[in-house]
Amino acid sequence: MLDLSRELGFRFDNSYARDLPGCYAPATAAPAPAPRLIALNHDLAAELGLNAAALDSPVGAEIFSGNYAPPGAAPLAQAYAGHQFGHFVPQLGDGRALLLGEVINANGQRRDIQFKGSGRTPFSRGGDGKAALGPVLREYILGEAMHALGVPTTRALAATATGESVYRESPLPGAVLTRVAASHIRVGTFQFFAARGDTAKLKLLADYTIARHYPHLAAEPNPYLALLAAVARRQAALIARWMHVGFIHGVMNTDNMAISGETIDYGPCAFLDSYHPATVFSSIDHRGRYAYGQQPPIARWNLTRFAETLLPLIAADPQDAIAPATAVLETFSDDYEAAWLAGMRSKLGLLDAPATGDLALANGFLALLENQSIDYTQAFRTLSAAALGEDAPLRALFPDPAPYHSWAPAWRARIVDPPASARAMDAVNPIYIPRNHLVEAALSAAVDHNDLAPFQALLAVLAQPFTARPGLESYTEAAPRGSAPYRTFCGT
Ligand code: AMP
Ligand code: MG
Repeated sequence: MLDLSRELGFRFDNSYARDLPGCYAPATAAPAPAPRLIALNHDLAAELGLNAAALDSPVGAEIFSGNYAPPGAAPLAQAYAGHQFGHFVPQLGDGRALLLGEVINANGQRRDIQFKGSGRTPFSRGGDGKAALGPVLREYILGEAMHALGVPTTRALAATATGESVYRESPLPGAVLTRVAASHIRVGTFQFFAARGDTAKLKLLADYTIARHYPHLAAEPNPYLALLAAVARRQAALIARWMHVGFIHGVMNTDNMAISGETIDYGPCAFLDSYHPATVFSSIDHRGRYAYGQQPPIARWNLTRFAETLLPLIAADPQDAIAPATAVLETFSDDYEAAWLAGMRSKLGLLDAPATGDLALANGFLALLENQSIDYTQAFRTLSAAALGEDAPLRALFPDPAPYHSWAPAWRARIVDPPASARAMDAVNPIYIPRNHLVEAALSAAVDHNDLAPFQALLAVLAQPFTARPGLESYTEAAPRGSAPYRTFCGT
């Protein structure tokens, strides 16, 4: 086993463990009685320098279930706090996750390898530290779909069934997700130390974060204010991308916002079907705090919580830090609006210079979708044919096409080179997204019938979201008419 594991290609360099003593608790994975590899992401494994062929084996199942820690791993549970639905919880932490270690990928980037569902840690509170197969596969599908859509995100390296049952409302097959991230440092990680008044640890964490994610900021006159600005800019860009593809995170607590600017913690997330800003899928989001259209203001709210943690680092007297930090936060909305509009211009095929009417054009199209509950993804995808003069597929989406006919001339007047616009639009408006009914069907086949074929087929479709392929028409369809409203549950 030892020799073999070296051949597997893990070359760990565990900077979090080394540089941030006191910011985590060492922990080990619970044994899995009968591990079975459900999925291994070969491309990602290769990118991480791992031997995918050798890992796609019972040895891989032992490793990715947590039964066997490869040499050089230093498993630990990270400490963090967080605002959950607006309420501060001073201690959350990795209650069902373990950072196995860090590796440097083929592009020279440091990547965390983390288990989710590997058993209890010192942060588990009342929980069992386990994960069920359904939510694990859900995170796998959604994360890989987001990656293929070009949205910054953590990724799935492996899904492994443990062979034991986890008990939720009923017994469910247990599983471990192996996840890869630029890091797992969250707004909540900063909050953990800020809440304890531990400025020394906070500074250690901030300096580590700058070195790892924003090294150019170390030379700034005020690196911590610059960190706030850089994180805010990345979040503005990220949330704009979510909005463009119709992604609803569902649980944007501050512990689920990564400082790296990646999408993280796929729980009750889902993609929009018919367009409405108030869309909520999560069964626990009763007040719509994390509704589709609330995501930009919530990101800003979370960044304000981040700014609060940095005040004692920004200025010796935190009072003096409030004005500059507020000024930085005020740039968020402008950054977000600019990123959003730039993306909407691409979605609408506007290839010419920005013009004053662009915002109205974009909002006008969204109003058409909202007023008649039109499928967001289908509407944007069929717009490329409309640019070429073939608007029957788009018109067919509208029960009443009259408002579309009123909107279209102003848009058409802006399409100066229809073939170029159509090509550009098809490269940004996906034809395949993880549609809720398809995700559910794939999970139910895997969990209830031990049939992985729909899961694998869906992954293959979503790996190329912009390229229409014959035979995949059913993957473009909205949920059957009369389906019950879609509901998602937290990924525990
Ligand atoms: P999440 O819903 O993934 O954002 O998790 C919120 C917090 O609850 C984190 O601190 C998790 O580690 C913890 N948690 C969620 N599920 C479990 C579980 N089954 N066992 C222990 N801790 C959990
Ligand atoms: Mg979380």
